[in-house]
Amino acid sequence: MKPNNFLLTLLILVVFSPSLLFAQDRLNFEEALRIDFVLSGNHQEQTVTIVNYLKSPNYQCSPGQAIPNYDYGSYRVLLIEKEKLDTLFIKGFCTLFEEWQSTPEANKKERAFRQTVETPFPLKEVFVKLELRDSMGMFRTLRSEFFSPSSIIQKLSPERFPSKKIHGIEDPSRQLDLLILAEGYTKDETETFFEDAENVSLQLLSTPPYDQLKDKITIRAMAVPSGDSGTNNPQKEEWGNTAMGSSFNTFGTDRYLESLYTWKIFDYSAAHPRDHIIVLVNTKKYGGGGVYNHFSITSAGHPYSAKVLIHEIGHGLAGLGDEYYSPDVSYSDFFDLKTEPWHPNITTLVDFESKWKNLIDESTPIPTPANNKYKNITGVFEGAGYSAKGIYRPAINCRMKSNEADGFCEVCKLSIKKAVNFYTK
Ligand SMILES: [Zn+2]
Repeated sequence: MKPNNFLLTLLILVVFSPSLLFAQDRLNFEEALRIDFVLSGNHQEQTVTIVNYLKSPNYQCSPGQAIPNYDYGSYRVLLIEKEKLDTLFIKGFCTLFEEWQSTPEANKKERAFRQTVETPFPLKEVFVKLELRDSMGMFRTLRSEFFSPSSIIQKLSPERFPSKKIHGIEDPSRQLDLLILAEGYTKDETETFFEDAENVSLQLLSTPPYDQLKDKITIRAMAVPSGDSGTNNPQKEEWGNTAMGSSFNTFGTDRYLESLYTWKIFDYSAAHPRDHIIVLVNTKKYGGGGVYNHFSITSAGHPYSAKVLIHEIGHGLAGLGDEYYSPDVSYSDFFDLKTEPWHPNITTLVDFESKWKNLIDESTPIPTPANNKYKNITGVFEGAGYSAKGIYRPAINCRMKSNEADGFCEVCKLSIKKAVNFYTK
C-alpha cells in the first residue's frame, strides 16, 4: 500500500490528540530529557544504542508543542506513558548518519555517529521509543526502552559565555527561539561574532515569510570561545582547535561544512532556550549544512553566508528538502522514486494530493515546463532532491534550489510559516 501523508497526519491527530490533555501533568516543559545515542551501521543496516540520559535546563517549550500536526523526519522519538500507554510527545528528526548511508563509503565499511534528541522531561515513568521511517514511508521501532525520571544521575550545568539577545521578547515558551553559537571565534573575536550574528539575523528577518513572523521569533547569540580562529579545511591542510570541531569536506564534498560533535553542541546550547540551534563558523569560505531538528551550520564571512544560512534553516527548522540536483553532491539515490518523500516541498508524484496540488491552477500542466511562461507560478517542475529525473519541485527557482533565487517558493513559505506557528502555540 502506498503511504499517504495526509491520512497519516489525520491518524496522528485522531489517535494522539486526547493525550495532549494529559501532557501538561506528565511532562516538565521547562527542562529537557536529553537522549544521547549512537547510530551505527552501513548502507543497509543500522543500530541505535542509547549512551546516556541527561536532564538539561532552559528547554522552554509548551504543551501545545507536544505533538506536531505534521509528520516530518526520517526518524522520530516518542514518549509513551508506562501505565496507560498514552503517547505524550512526538518529535521527528533527521541525522547525519542517514546522509552518510547514501555515500559510496557506506558500501565498504561501517561507521557510527553521535546523535542527540531532546524532549520535555517526563515526570512519570515512560517508554522512550526511537523509530525509523522505512522505504514505504512507515515508521518502525529501532529501540524502545523504559525510562524512570528517578534514574537520572546527571543534570547539565552549562557554561555561560557572553550572550546577547539580538531580536525578540523574553517569553521562550511562546516564541520560536533561535540560538546562534559561535564556532571558530577566539575570545578576542567576541565582538566580531556578535556583528556577524546580527548581520545574518537581520537578513533572515527581512526574508519572506520570516519578515511577517518577526513578532514570533526570538534570536539569541552566545560567544562560545575557540582556541583558534577559523575552522578545519582538510583540502588545504588547515587545522584548528575550535569549540565544536567543525570541518569542510564532510562526506567528501568540499563545501559541506558540518560538525560531528553533536553532544558538545548540545552541551553549549543548554545555556539558553533553543527551539533551533544555529552554529556560525568564523570563515570566509563558502559552505554550510542543515539537518531537520538537529542543527544548522554555516560560514559567516562569505558574501552568500546569509543566503546559505536561510537555506540551511529551511532544512533544520522546517524540514524542507533540497530542490537542486547537482553532480557534486555525493548522495546516490537518496530518494526512493516509488515512495512519496515526507519533505513538504518535493514530490515523486506518487501521492501528490498530499503535497501542494491545491496551490496549482487548473491550466498549469503537470509536469510543468521550466520556461518563461511559468517563471513565477507554482507548478511541478522536474529535477529536485539530487536527481534530475523523477523528483519534482514547486517552482523554477527557490532558496531551497539556488543562491540566485529571489527567495522561497510559495510552498516553502507556507511550510516555514507552519513550523514557526508550531513553536508559538
Ligand atoms: Zn521551495
